[in-house]
Amino acid sequence: MDWPPPDASIYRRPSIPGPRARVGEVIPGLHQRGMLTTSAFLVITPHAETGEPSVTVIDSGWRYFHHDRVLSYLRRLGYGPESVSGLISTHFHPDHVGGMARLHRATRAPVAAHRVEAPDLAGEPGRGMPNPVKPKWLRPLMWPLLAPTKPAHVPVAQTLDDGDTLPLLGGATVIHTPGHTPGSISLHFPNEGVLLVADAVQRYQERLTLPSRWFSSDMEAAKESVRKLALLDFEIICFSHFEPMRNGARAALRTLAEYVS
Ligand SMILES: [Zn+2]
Ligand SMILES: [Zn+2]
Repeated sequence: MDWPPPDASIYRRPSIPGPRARVGEVIPGLHQRGMLTTSAFLVITPHAETGEPSVTVIDSGWRYFHHDRVLSYLRRLGYGPESVSGLISTHFHPDHVGGMARLHRATRAPVAAHRVEAPDLAGEPGRGMPNPVKPKWLRPLMWPLLAPTKPAHVPVAQTLDDGDTLPLLGGATVIHTPGHTPGSISLHFPNEGVLLVADAVQRYQERLTLPSRWFSSDMEAAKESVRKLALLDFEIICFSHFEPMRNGARAALRTLAEYVS
């Protein structure tokens, strides 16, 4: 979740957040399904042996609202739910995994999440998805609004760790980018020059900022994650709440990394 905006003192004074996420192809084989306040990403990879395309869905939008929009977008691209071979959570906020249980039921595809958050998604005893609001005074005020959107539990078939590689678009590397949440992940597609950061970085037009401190668990870890991401090679950054940044993305992330050092 990315509103209200982060503390402006961290990285100059931000202008207007955005531009907001839309629906469409980022590069061949990678689509962003922008939805109200959030996004899902669809990765379409031909099977190594059969050449049959298989779809991986990254994030699922809010509970009740968004899993069907992901599926209808898939249909627009010519794929049914049976084409989905994997579901990935970037982090356990309700605008990202709210629709995961329904998407899992519709596709029967296995769910993958970072090791730290997998027990929360699965609803293991003593675990669960927390109130994502950080300020103590705001937590009880926001909870009546957020509680109905709390994601349903979903079994996690694959736990992800930093450095894992996934067979998506010629190989994707899992980058553990804690700070926004403890188990936030980014995905690096080195062959395509794409870095998908989900909520680990926010876009303010042509500038980048840290994730919102109102909805992030550890801002020092978030800064460290930005420094880690800035070491990677890429040309395009994809965000969950904004349009991809295609021009000067690497320089913009390095500027932010230097600023928060
Ligand atoms: Zn979010
Ligand atoms: Zn988030």
